[in-house]
This record gives sequence, C-alpha cells and structure tokens, in this order.
Amino acid sequence: MTRTLIAGNWKMNGLVGSLTEIERVAAAVAPSQTGPEILLCLPATLIHPAAAKAEGSALKIGGETCHPKEKGAHTGDISAEMLKDAGATYVIVGHSERRADHGETDAVVASQASAALRAGITPIICVGETLAQRDAGDVLNVISEQIAGSIPSEGAADTIVVAYEPVWAIGTGRVANSEQIAEVHGFIRELLTKQFGEAGRGTRILYGGSMNPGNAEEILGVAEVNGGLIGGASLKADDFLAIYRLA
Ligand code: PGA
Repeated sequence: MTRTLIAGNWKMNGLVGSLTEIERVAAAVAPSQTGPEILLCLPATLIHPAAAKAEGSALKIGGETCHPKEKGAHTGDISAEMLKDAGATYVIVGHSERRADHGETDAVVASQASAALRAGITPIICVGETLAQRDAGDVLNVISEQIAGSIPSEGAADTIVVAYEPVWAIGTGRVANSEQIAEVHGFIRELLTKQFGEAGRGTRILYGGSMNPGNAEEILGVAEVNGGLIGGASLKADDFLAIYRLA
C-alpha cells in the first residue's frame, strides 16, 4: 500500500526565526508507521536545526536540490552527502525553478537523483509543462521526455518519488483541474510501469502547483495522486498541517 506523502517546499524562504513554524509542525505529528508521511524540504541553512527540532516526531526534513558530485571544488553547491549528514532524508531535484534559473537539464537532474540515491536519500524528481507547451498540445510529449531523461538508470520504483508540477500552476493560484491532473498522473503511471513493471504501481506521484487547504482534498482524491508538493501553503504550520490532515 502506497503511503501518501505530503511534502512542503519552502524554496528561498525562511530565516532562523522560522524554525518556530517547523517546531509547531513537528509537535503536531506523532511518529507512525501508517497514514501519510510528512516532509518539509528547506533551504540548506535550516536543514540541520530543523532536523533537530523534528527528532522524535513524524516530520521528515529534505533539501531542495543537490550537486551531482559528492564533494569538491563547486563553490556555493551542496552535495546529497551533506544533506544527509545534516539530517535530510529526501531531496527535490529538477524543480522547474531550478531548471529555469540554473539551466538544469534532464541529464543534470538524472545525475542529481543518482547522487541522492548514492547518499541514501530519496530524490523527488519534478516534471511539468509550461503554459506554452500545454497550449501547443505538447503536454504528454514533454512529460514523457522529462521522465525518460530525469529518472536515473539505477532508480528503482520504491527509491524515487515523482512530482508533477505544471509550471503555470506554481505560485500562481491557478490550479490544474482534476481532469488535467488525472490525465498526466495516469500517463506518468503508465510510463513508470513500462519502466519498472508492476513495481511501478508503487512509485509515489505527487501533484504540485498552488495546492492549499481549500483544494487539497479534491486534488488528493484524483486517481494516481499519491501526495502533494506544496510551496506557499507549506510556509505556515497551520496551512501545512491542515493539508496533511486532509490526506
Ligand atoms: P506553490 O509551489 O504551492 O507555491 O504553487 C509548489 C512548488 O513549486 O513546489
């Protein structure tokens, strides 16, 4: 049985003072082997102190990107090993903001996911079309190319998570509708079962893009949606916990 994953993505938000929000989330979620998993992916500066606050609770901590290499002369970068060392158990790779801001290609994303797997943390591999690609009727081609290029060859169905995040729905308040979500999630599921066989039914596929406490229940009820990747609404403990409780 696939465990739903409710994952927050703080992006470049949060100062040390924001740890009180993280503390509030941790205090509200007792550890459990069943029910949804809860995760906050944080800026690098907050990972270590947040992991300390989350200890003993169900809250897991993740990073927002990692370098393909383990260590070395890469000023400003962070490796999956370092994230793990700081207490992260997940890392987002291939977020559309990274793809756009840093020119990360599918091949780069695959090597970042690979680095995460080598470090023993779970990559959340993001894919999603732009509005222009949707308007051009190119959604499934784009998704299929991104999935083929971004999942590393050593990835296994249960060691990766995929997130579908239509770029036009991120931070815009414009959510994909249930039909659009069902179509793409169903398609990703097909691609995963082609790649991994029956095991591909167990890979979690998250939806991301303007998810909030008001729309989460409907989105999480769509076929093949196994959780959410939540940006803006993960910054406040109350909103994030409200989504978690709907899962
Ligand atoms: P949003 O961001 O919920 O603020 O739209 C989602 C994401 O980019 O992961």
